[in-house]
Amino acid sequence: MSMRRESVIETPMPPLDVARVRADFPALHQEVHGRPLAYLDNAATTQKPFTVIDAVERYYRRDNANVHRGVHTLSQRATADYEGAREKARVFLNAHSSREIVFVRGATEAINLVAQSFGRANIGRGDEILITEMEHHSNIVPWQLLSGQLGATLRVAPINDAGEVVLEDYEKLLSPRTRLVGIAHCSNALGSINPVKRMTRLAHDAGAVVLVDGAQAAPHFAVDVQALDCDFYVLSGHKMYGPTGIGVLYGKEALLEAMPPYQGGGEMIKYVSFDKTVYNDLPYKFEAGTPHIAGVIGLGAAIDYLTGLGLDAIADYERELLHYATVMLSGIPGLRLIGCARDKASILSFTLAGVHPHDIGTIFDHQGVAIRTGHHCAMPVMQRYGVPATARASLAFYNTSEEVDALAAAIHEAKEVFG
Ligand code: PMP
Repeated sequence: MSMRRESVIETPMPPLDVARVRADFPALHQEVHGRPLAYLDNAATTQKPFTVIDAVERYYRRDNANVHRGVHTLSQRATADYEGAREKARVFLNAHSSREIVFVRGATEAINLVAQSFGRANIGRGDEILITEMEHHSNIVPWQLLSGQLGATLRVAPINDAGEVVLEDYEKLLSPRTRLVGIAHCSNALGSINPVKRMTRLAHDAGAVVLVDGAQAAPHFAVDVQALDCDFYVLSGHKMYGPTGIGVLYGKEALLEAMPPYQGGGEMIKYVSFDKTVYNDLPYKFEAGTPHIAGVIGLGAAIDYLTGLGLDAIADYERELLHYATVMLSGIPGLRLIGCARDKASILSFTLAGVHPHDIGTIFDHQGVAIRTGHHCAMPVMQRYGVPATARASLAFYNTSEEVDALAAAIHEAKEVFG
C-alpha cells in the first residue's frame, strides 16, 4: 500500500502480518469517491472476514434448520454448530460453564435483560445503581428505566479531564444501598479502559453486583471473566468481526439460576400447562423463541478468527497504531483530542477548531476515510467536555499507518476548506 501523505514519524513495527490479515476482509478492498477506502469506523461496527461470511452462508446454504428441536440431520448439524459457538464464547471469555453463556441480540439487549430480570427481582425503592459518566446510552437508559419503575436512584461516578473514572469518587459513591454497578470496560467515545477488576472488588466489598459492558473491549484485548470476577459481562458480535444482531450475556451461574426469565415463549420452557409452566435449564431459560442461529454461528467463526490471530498480538499491534495516530494528530494545530486516558484502546475522538464535526465527516468521506461523527450514543460524555459532537476515528488490527496518514491528510484538507 502506498503512503498517501509524507509520514512525520517512524511507522510502527507490526507484530502481525497486516497485509495478510487485510486479505481476509473483502470490504476493505474498494474505492470510495475514487480513493482507496480507509475504514476507521470500527467502534461503530467492524468489517467481516471471509470465514465469518462463509460460516453464515454455509448455514443458510447447507444446514438451515431450527435448533434443539428436530431429530433430522440438518437440525442436528445446526444445533451442533450453534452449541459449538456457545463453547467458543465460553472459552473466549474464560467462563466457568457454557450454562453461563446466553445468546442475545447484542450488548443492548444483554443489559436490558439484566436490568429487567435481575434488577426487578433484586433492586427496590431507595436502592442505588451506580454507573460511570462515560457509559454508552445502552448502559444508562436501561438503568434509568428501571430506577423509574422501582423508585431506585441512579448515581454517576465522574470522569476527569483525561477521561478516566475518578476512583476516589467512585469509591465514595459505593454504599450499602448500592445494589448494582454498571461499568464500560472500554469507552466507545473516549477509548478509556477502566480498571474493572479493581472497581469490581470495591463494588463487591460494598455488597453490589457488577455488570461490565465489554462491547468495545472484547475486540481489542483478552477478557477473562473469572479473573475480573464480574457478575455479568456483555459482548456485541458486530463489534468483534461477527454478524449484527447477535451478542452474548455472560452471567455467574448462581445469579442466572436465581433470576426470573426475561421473555416467555418457546425454547425457554420444560413444561407448559394453563396452570403452571416449568422453565428450562440455563442458558435456555433466557433464550425464548427461535434464536439468531446464523448470527451465533457467524459469531463462533469470528471468535475463531480472533483467537487465531491472538488477542495479545492484536492488542500489541493496535497499541502501536494508536500511539502512532495519537502522535500524528496531536501535532495538528487546532485539533483537540478528547480522551487521553493512560490506559486506552483504539479510539481517537477529536474536534477541529472552526469545523463542525459533521462537516469533517463529509469531507473525510470524499477522501475515502470513513469515520463517525456525532455524540456516539454517549451524550453525557459530550456534555462533560462541553462539545455537541466529536469526530471519532476508531482503529482495528487491519488498519495501517498509511490509513492513519490518510486520516491526517483528510484533517489538513478539512482545515484548508474551512480554515
Ligand atoms: N456499549 C458500548 C460501549 C457500545 O459501544 C455499544 C455500541 N455502540 C453498545 C454498548 C451497544 O451494542 P449493540 O450494538 O450490540 O447493542
